[in-house]
Amino acid sequence: MLDDTASRIFNNQDTALLEQLAQEARLLTKQYFGRAICLYAPLYLSNHCANQCVYCGFHASVDIPRRKLDEQAIAAECQVLARTGIQSILLLTGESRKYTPPEYLETAIKIAKKYFASIALEVYPLETEEYARLNAAGCDGVTVFQETYDQARYKILHPAGKKRDYAYRYQTPQRAALGGMRQITLGVLLGLADWRQDILALYAHLRSLEKEFPGVDYTLSFPRLREAYDYKEKNYLVSDADLAKIICATRLLFPRIGINLSTRESAAFRDRAVHFGVTKISAGSSTAVGGYAAPDAEAARSNRAAAQFAINDERSVAAVKAMLERQGFDPVFTDWRCLVK
Ligand code: SF4
Repeated sequence: MLDDTASRIFNNQDTALLEQLAQEARLLTKQYFGRAICLYAPLYLSNHCANQCVYCGFHASVDIPRRKLDEQAIAAECQVLARTGIQSILLLTGESRKYTPPEYLETAIKIAKKYFASIALEVYPLETEEYARLNAAGCDGVTVFQETYDQARYKILHPAGKKRDYAYRYQTPQRAALGGMRQITLGVLLGLADWRQDILALYAHLRSLEKEFPGVDYTLSFPRLREAYDYKEKNYLVSDADLAKIICATRLLFPRIGINLSTRESAAFRDRAVHFGVTKISAGSSTAVGGYAAPDAEAARSNRAAAQFAINDERSVAAVKAMLERQGFDPVFTDWRCLVK
């Protein structure tokens, strides 16, 4: 049933019907989220990575300067971000246990907790006990993308490193939930495989998690592959119209689920997408390690060699907030606060 409905939407080219679906998605979003759109920002702690994802500019064989923020640098990044009004952050690293072990992540969380209300992690998959430890330190959310659910493509795209273990990654949200995380974000990287199959598999993954852990707050994310490295595969690219269908279908099938849209997408697309289902957007983002507090922050921001992927929407937090207000939304900097001391 779920597959049938989604497939009908995905395969439909009738613009009038799609406009009607967008209207329904808009009404459902208003019903469950009102006019609230949550703002957050990513903070890259490290670009060390032991994996070999062929589509990523951080992968282990790419010759780029590697950096890991020390405690002072983490605090400096937090201070700059906090001054923009951001209260929810996503701490990211490449996937390297060696350079960014759980102890390092715990320290980063404790520093970030002094500045932000909500802290989520997007790092390598951890064990349940490790998630519990980081949760106790003040981390309340985990983001983990399967990247693609097409297992044949997955093997080709991840030729080496721990990430090659598809099943271990697939089970990561379970371990995060068992470790006490209250919010979990799942997603696929659109552009790696057939998007229709990937989205259906993502929905199935989400459904199974909802059954097992109904108390968790779930968000879905659908980043599109962006230029950052010389990955040239163009067979699976996803158009703006298809991404809009994905967002609408997700809202219609999962009315209460958060939908995230990052600065990988253009300002024009994001400004439209908040009207038909998106509830969470990043703003003022840098995807470079130390990109906020660098002496020449603008240069760091646009330095593609140092960033995981190129940013498309380069507006400041204030500009995104103003855009939301102009369109009648309530920008929300936090809807939750960690009370861990
Ligand atoms: S996608 Fe993540 S795990 Fe893969 S190479 Fe890039 S940083 Fe490493």
